[in-house]
Amino acid sequence: MSLIEVKNLTHIYGEGTVFEKKALDSVNLTVNERDLIGLIGHTGSGKSTLIQHLNGLIKPTSGEIVVAGKTITDKVPLVDIRQKVGLVFQYPEYQLFEETVERDIAFGPQNLGLNAEEVKIRVKESMELVGLNYDTFKEKSPFELSGGQKRRVAIAGVIAMKPDVLILDEPTAGLDPRGRDEIFGEIKNLYKNGNITIIIVSHSMEDMASIANRIVVMSDGKIVMDDKAREIFKREDELVKIGLGVPQITSFLIELKKRGADINTNCITVEEA
Ligand code: ADP
Repeated sequence: MSLIEVKNLTHIYGEGTVFEKKALDSVNLTVNERDLIGLIGHTGSGKSTLIQHLNGLIKPTSGEIVVAGKTITDKVPLVDIRQKVGLVFQYPEYQLFEETVERDIAFGPQNLGLNAEEVKIRVKESMELVGLNYDTFKEKSPFELSGGQKRRVAIAGVIAMKPDVLILDEPTAGLDPRGRDEIFGEIKNLYKNGNITIIIVSHSMEDMASIANRIVVMSDGKIVMDDKAREIFKREDELVKIGLGVPQITSFLIELKKRGADINTNCITVEEA
């Protein structure tokens, strides 16, 4: 079943000014239930502009976004859209502001008008989904946590809204290798246990090879490829042309093959290696 339909979406920043920039050019995309999409492209290819349309933060210059059968218009309250599509920004920990982890994660659900007990259940569930023990972390200040833990709190805050689709913009940006592994591990668990559809924005083919079951490649405001990881990696020459790190990917695949991994599955997971 399709959860999001992007139809002929074009977005022009600063239209009619000297800064005019067409960031998206007739983009069409269907996000299906249980997709785990790696949205890849070099800087400036339009990834952030696209995902911000998916939860109503930016309005199309032309075209349409349909979420769960409803076209996003000015009349649809943003809170309704955000319960369907949750967006975790880059460096989300900068948006943590409450004194305790529990209060920070509770902020969104409280605004939905849920009672205290329902809010607590949501906080607990979402903390567990990102691998943070409720009793250990609930009273801690978000600011005393490690980089990876802070980011997990921020992700839990979005999950607590119980979105059908979770979008993460460069979720491992700026983390050390341990924090990076931690976040990717938690995203895999969340996908497995959360009955959720996930879109991860990344500029790294290698990272997405290890996690996504569908890869969407953007270049210059357009979607230029949309397929299973193994099919995308067959198109090396085109990937090189649009400036993606194929040497890295090639060596990654060679390494996987050496270790006897079956790269003909939909999802090339690190565990298979
Ligand atoms: P990505 O996320 O792939 O790096 P973006 O969606 O951020 O790409 O940007 C796509 C294009 O739109 C780039 O050329 C960028 O400079 C431009 N752009 C992004 N945001 C704005 C903005 N607020 N005003 C003007 N141009 C913008």
